[in-house]
Amino acid sequence: MQKVAKFGGSSVANASQIRKIKSILEADTSREILVTSAIGKDKAHESKLTDLLYLLYAHIEYGIDYNHILKTITDRFLDIKNDLSLSYDIEKEIENLKKELTKDISKDYLVSRGEYFTAKLLEEYLGYQFVDAKDIIMLHYDGTVDYETTETQLKNVLKKHKKIIVPGFYAKTPNDKIRLFSRGGSDITGSILAKVSKADLYENWTDVDGIYAADPKLVDNPKLIHSITYSELRELSYRGANVLNQETILPLANMGIPLKIKNTFNPESSGTLISDKFAEANELLTGISGLKNFTSFNITKDSSKQLILVLKNVLNLFIRYKINIEHIPTGIDTFSMIVKTEDIKDYYFDLINEVREIEGVIDLSLEDDIALVAIVSRNMTHIPGVAGRIFTTLGNHNINIKIIAQASTEISIIIGVSNVDYEKAIKVVYKEFYKD
Ligand code: ASP
Repeated sequence: MQKVAKFGGSSVANASQIRKIKSILEADTSREILVTSAIGKDKAHESKLTDLLYLLYAHIEYGIDYNHILKTITDRFLDIKNDLSLSYDIEKEIENLKKELTKDISKDYLVSRGEYFTAKLLEEYLGYQFVDAKDIIMLHYDGTVDYETTETQLKNVLKKHKKIIVPGFYAKTPNDKIRLFSRGGSDITGSILAKVSKADLYENWTDVDGIYAADPKLVDNPKLIHSITYSELRELSYRGANVLNQETILPLANMGIPLKIKNTFNPESSGTLISDKFAEANELLTGISGLKNFTSFNITKDSSKQLILVLKNVLNLFIRYKINIEHIPTGIDTFSMIVKTEDIKDYYFDLINEVREIEGVIDLSLEDDIALVAIVSRNMTHIPGVAGRIFTTLGNHNINIKIIAQASTEISIIIGVSNVDYEKAIKVVYKEFYKD
């Protein structure tokens, strides 16, 4: 059994958290590759180190005095160093960094120092060998991961060291520069390393017990999802359930490597296991999530024109504006384009005018303030009547359904309701399926 374990910012936010990591690692020695985020928020500190580093960069860029920010950054490292009685000379490292703080400094390089220094501190305390991400994770010029080289680099490192710690969130470009992943990207580092090391399990240690069946802000004590497939998770996170960075899943799902979300604050909790290996769940539904603020372009076409041709021209228009379409419910002479309102806000009137000019379009109406609710379950394919229960429940609570869509794989049903009904819809559907 070989595991990759990634610890998020809150797991390394202070010395007492880092002590917890040590006992987690002592309890299971199969975690050979560790990835760390930069020091995150805790009760005493409202900023993540990464945010402070972005702020530092902005100060340098605009020529504003930045010493107070650098001091806050240094203090966070020193607090941990002193509390854990470490000898790593972080003061000197930051002194050296200070010499590099000119307008020419690369933003990605500067921000990456958050995970770099954090990993250095952990190296000493946890007794894992520090290996810089830039010496393992290689990118192509287009920003995609060069898995072949990355695998070779990792193999070479593991010949020399059995247990390593790697800073997350960044990688090296072919021209030797550091490039950051998207925010929350240490998750991606972990999944890349799990893939190239062909890990048996990728553990993602964070500050929640796992993924919940509904947003805890909307539903009291929602059930923890114990097992979920990669495709279900994609459906859920696409609609707003965000525990993992979205790009994390792909490298793992292709390789069939399971991922477990675990809570550093509560390691006894079983966590959520994401894998494609289990067939049916015990629960009828896996989860419910959703997002507000969609707009529907409701189009009526001339009945003498073929739907497919009018649709094609409308689609081409949206492609030209690079607008992602969420759903296209169709009728005989009507169809709708559902898009995120945010995505069209700069082109709202241009789009309306251009759609109206498309041959065969005889009417266009727009509807804003739509929320989409996704009800996700790998069990729905076998059990009839789930959709019926959802519609009845919403109907009984006077929630008008504006849109219905089901993925062809039948793992999700998407319901469109008014923004004002969104919270209520999630609550009542949750209650209907999880009442006992
Ligand atoms: N430190 C980075 C961020 O705050 C990356 C991460 O935590 O995964 O986005």
